[in-house]
Amino acid sequence: MRAAVVTSFTAPLEIQELPIPEPGPGEVLVRMETSGLCHTDIHAAHGDWPVRPTPPFVPGHEGVGHVERLGHGVTERSVGQRVAIAWLGYACGACRHCIAGWETLCEQQHNSGYSVNGSFAEYAVLPAAFATPVPDAVSSHDAAPLTCAGVTTFKAIKVGRVAPADKVAIFGVGGLGHLAVQYARIAGGIVIAVDVEDTKLAMARDLGADHLVNASRTDPVAAIQAFGGADVAVALAANASSVEQAYRSLGRGGRLVLVGLPADNAAVSVPIFDCVLGGKQVIGSIVGTRNDLADVFALHAAGRTKIVAVERKLDEVNEAIDEVLSGEVPARIVFRF
Ligand code: ZN
Ligand code: ZN
Repeated sequence: MRAAVVTSFTAPLEIQELPIPEPGPGEVLVRMETSGLCHTDIHAAHGDWPVRPTPPFVPGHEGVGHVERLGHGVTERSVGQRVAIAWLGYACGACRHCIAGWETLCEQQHNSGYSVNGSFAEYAVLPAAFATPVPDAVSSHDAAPLTCAGVTTFKAIKVGRVAPADKVAIFGVGGLGHLAVQYARIAGGIVIAVDVEDTKLAMARDLGADHLVNASRTDPVAAIQAFGGADVAVALAANASSVEQAYRSLGRGGRLVLVGLPADNAAVSVPIFDCVLGGKQVIGSIVGTRNDLADVFALHAAGRTKIVAVERKLDEVNEAIDEVLSGEVPARIVFRF
């Protein structure tokens, strides 16, 4: 099978011919149809984060394809079924976090395209229970970005507890942000989209954002405070200054949800007096559970969300990474196999 392989953190990805993996007991073999390119894949390929993957490995955690073979003992999936391969490739199901419905916090978890090989390949194996079924009404083109960008922002809006008429500031309108705007709307929020690119703000407006702030021209903190301050701010742009702006845009009782991960393990400082007296909260949010992903697919099948994505071939993986890094891509790139 053809796969895009990270051989070193300083080299481009290599298209290699690898053996098709064998599904072990409880696993399924998936023949890939599409796979989205997430910024996390680029951080993985560059070894940017404190915990690094081990080359050689295959990135990719927005994979969508059909089950081709079942490993021993699999009963919960069938051959031909269409499934998604998400960041959460496995969780133990037995620890306190898993039992509490927080499998995304499981310390035994495997992460597709990071700690185990991912979806930038014609085939991948994963535990059957973590191959989330994709409804017929969701195309494979759309299912790919929903599998990370969708579930991650859906969860961020949930943990931010967005209620009807809450003012929700979305900092960063790219692959994740274009979906965050839509989930904030679905939850009833009045959405303020913040970005430095007018084209991305125009996309946010088309997707339902109520107010637009171009942070390259206008101070987003002043602009959002002029609306009365954000009840919820979602920090998707992965740099400390944008996160600090997101915090300072909060009104009293506001919640800051941190999602975007910077390349450099940056920290932000929280002014203690302001946080305590204002009853503010800072919440970290990592992807979403399998149930969250099923909900994301259900909303899309019901026509509540739209995907903005362009397709590329897997052979173009390095050019696609350059496109994302240059900011040319409006929202998402999806590889079509
Ligand atoms: Zn991702
Ligand atoms: Zn667990």
